Amino acid sequence: MKKGRVFSGARPTGRQHIGNYLGAIQNYVALQDDYECVYCVVDLHALTTLTHTEELKSNTLEMVLDWLAAGMDPEKSIIFVQSQVPQVTELHTILSMVTPMGWLTRLPTFKERVRMQPDNVNYGLLGYPVLMAADITLYKADTVPVGEDQAPHLEFTREIVRRFNHHFGPTLVEPRIKLTAFPRVMGLDGVNKMSKSLGNHIELASPPEEMEQRVMTMVTDPQRRYRSDPGRPEVCNVFTFHGFFSPEQVQEIERDCRKAEIGCVDCKRTLARNLSARLAPFRERRAELGSDPKLVWDILADGASRATAIAEGTMAEVKARVGLP
Ligand code: SF4
Repeated sequence: MKKGRVFSGARPTGRQHIGNYLGAIQNYVALQDDYECVYCVVDLHALTTLTHTEELKSNTLEMVLDWLAAGMDPEKSIIFVQSQVPQVTELHTILSMVTPMGWLTRLPTFKERVRMQPDNVNYGLLGYPVLMAADITLYKADTVPVGEDQAPHLEFTREIVRRFNHHFGPTLVEPRIKLTAFPRVMGLDGVNKMSKSLGNHIELASPPEEMEQRVMTMVTDPQRRYRSDPGRPEVCNVFTFHGFFSPEQVQEIERDCRKAEIGCVDCKRTLARNLSARLAPFRERRAELGSDPKLVWDILADGASRATAIAEGTMAEVKARVGLP
């Protein structure tokens, strides 16, 4: 017996990196056992910030290949592409009629986007949270996993649902927030969050040699200038990564670092080795799946048809409530 239905979406950003894996994908995989999961590649959302859209399709393929190789299972979960279930745009339009403008213009995320792309302040940016509410409610998800910083976005969805249900009668499911600890994974520079656009990332599918090269560029304790200087693992990003990928050695590394009994170069080599070993099954599965991209598109088409079955049911109820013929 499943605990409920989870919805989560991610923009098609192409090959995934270690930050994506630790911050989202491993959680997606874990939730599949306890929940009925609906995982969506939100390509329409991506249009709000993209000016060049020619890579959307290949980015979708690369991302879903990583998802599947990491253990997201189309037998257990519905995995699909947002734009392949067009009912979401219909629900978005209907929900936009019960969403006061002031709610949208006041949102800090909208103001931040306007600052980030002053030359492309499109309507989609403003309506983004309404489309998000449509994503969640179309599939009758009752649970949405979010980090603490994302909770206000979901609260917005809950407000729209309450408003719709108040106007038209109980129809949409008000999703509950499932606060989840998403580790904030810093990039190779140790200063900024790991991000493809900043180039401070390590791709999950990197071959071992490339992975080692990237790890060797990681910033360590800046006060440790010589091999004989004792290190401070608590300020070292390499050490944080050992916490994720070297659980059996982490205590020894901490002790040796503090006593200057291990150098940073050796410490990074150990990390690169452990990282590469942990991801070996992932790389193998990805190579296998990548040899037949049609299989991935078939999985997404099947996901879209299962998602459509739920979406049609919701839209029939919504239209009846609203009074549309
Ligand atoms: Fe960081 Fe390892 Fe160097 Fe210590 S030995 S400062 S944990 S890289």
